[in-house]
Amino acid sequence: MLLHQAPLEFARAVYGINDRASGRVGTMAAQDVARAEGMGVLVTRERVQQRARSYLPMEGREHCPRCWVFASTRTPLSFQRMEEGHELARCSSCGAEYPNP
Ligand SMILES: [Zn+2]
Repeated sequence: MLLHQAPLEFARAVYGINDRASGRVGTMAAQDVARAEGMGVLVTRERVQQRARSYLPMEGREHCPRCWVFASTRTPLSFQRMEEGHELARCSSCGAEYPNP
């Protein structure tokens, strides 16, 4: 299921890039782009698309799709068991949360 998050994070990054280009720097997506650029990472449509396509989480060692797509960093996700047997994958670095059905 995390694999399906990479294209969504790509779309989000594109929103962020477009937001910044048109001066809407306060949106969540724009702030995530700014954060990645602050880390010295090139955030262009082409780069984030490449990273989204190369996202490949390893079973038991899943890393955060958002950190990977935006900032090219591998941040391990922590999993939390929720009610009704659902799991929540959470990134301590960027704050992303992904429900695991
Ligand atoms: Zn993250």
